[in-house]
Amino acid sequence: MSTWRAQARPTRLAEDMDAAHRLGVGAASAGLQDAALGAARLTGDGVPLLADAAVSSATPFLRAPLLSRISRALALHPPGGDPEDTCPTCAAPVPCATARALT
Ligand SMILES: [Zn+2]
Repeated sequence: MSTWRAQARPTRLAEDMDAAHRLGVGAASAGLQDAALGAARLTGDGVPLLADAAVSSATPFLRAPLLSRISRALALHPPGGDPEDTCPTCAAPVPCATARALT
């Protein structure tokens, strides 16, 4: 781990994403070793490494549709602005409940 990373305090989102990644790697490891794969089933010390690589490679593509929708929702419900500003969509003070839920 690099020095800057060791000194950085992870955000709650970063912690959640790391936890989700670990769960994904665990699920991928189990899937690669599934007996239902028959002769294609993988075993051995390399399985966790392959699972981590697969999850790391696939994650941006799996997140893209969700991130696109979140971005569009935040354009409708801006999370920032002056304290007296109101959300242009729901007219609640900024950040509105939708923006708080998405950030
Ligand atoms: Zn709003």
